[in-house]
Amino acid sequence: MQQALLLADKAEAEGEIPVGAVLVSPTGEVLGEGWNRSIVLSDPTAHAEIQAIRMAGSALQNYRLIDCTLYVTLEPCTMCAGAILHSRIGRLVFGASDYKTGAIGSRFHLFEDYKMNHFLEIRGGVMADLCSAKISAFFKKRREQKKQLKLIDIR
Ligand SMILES: [Zn+2]
Repeated sequence: MQQALLLADKAEAEGEIPVGAVLVSPTGEVLGEGWNRSIVLSDPTAHAEIQAIRMAGSALQNYRLIDCTLYVTLEPCTMCAGAILHSRIGRLVFGASDYKTGAIGSRFHLFEDYKMNHFLEIRGGVMADLCSAKISAFFKKRREQKKQLKLIDIR
């Protein structure tokens, strides 16, 4: 999760919502890394989780990531939860909950409603304070920047 937080900083440096993800093999090897790049890539699917899953699939030359663990700083959305399901990841560890779009219990619970065809172990709230503080600070800064822009407009 520590590493996922560092990747979240990369997203922030690019003006993206600071979310980072790391995909690790059963033996602890890092197979994929990702951070939000939707704006930079003009790609609404370029969430941190999707990036990490793509990189790991390419590294393993396999579309199944069986027994791998995905660490992500924010609760995955429905799109990413779907990708997690299709990739057959064995374990999901996430930080902050997302009450707006979280699909692992906060807003929706994809893995509860879905007729599961594989077993996924889920652990949320890991380093949640750090993960959510990073996102809150980002939005606070962005609101202040917008306010500053408005002030400049008036003058
Ligand atoms: Zn997502």
